[in-house]
Amino acid sequence: MTLPADAITYKGNPCKRGHVGWRYRCGSCIECAKIMGAERRRENPELIKEIRQRWWAKNPERAKKLARESFLRCRAKNPERMLESRRRWDKANINRIRPMMAARNAARYAAKIKATPIWANRNEIRRFYENRPNGFHVDHIIPLKGKTVCGLHILENLQYLPALENCKKGNQLSTAQNDEHPNDLP
Ligand SMILES: [Zn+2]
Repeated sequence: MTLPADAITYKGNPCKRGHVGWRYRCGSCIECAKIMGAERRRENPELIKEIRQRWWAKNPERAKKLARESFLRCRAKNPERMLESRRRWDKANINRIRPMMAARNAARYAAKIKATPIWANRNEIRRFYENRPNGFHVDHIIPLKGKTVCGLHILENLQYLPALENCKKGNQLSTAQNDEHPNDLP
């Protein structure tokens, strides 16, 4: 079990439930606290929710950090499941995300135009997109808008990447619409 930072080992008599071992510094039994916490959660989920929400409102930065960490842990542990639940959420909220996706697609299209040098072979690029195998995305090896360098929209900078890999790479394009690739155009 995960122990609080102030846990101490206890060598005295067992508690009223018969636990020996870990206690809080104040002397109360950690196992019992867990049992009672679970009971409270079962009996009054609304109250627990309220307490949690109050804590979130009071500690927004810390809450954001914790949520982010838990998200990353989940994703590292089970990327497929994460992607699946994201897809479900996207499908259920299609009206909410449609404008966001339109804006993102427009931005991506503009970035491609900007990153296509005059000497680029557009036919080759188009063929590369047309030959994309199912379940793969076309990925820019050096991102068009990288942090330090910006890649070009040329054949040499393109590769096929399994859709899942590409989403892990940080593009986060697991949306229902993205699966169908209307925006994955040359
Ligand atoms: Zn106990």
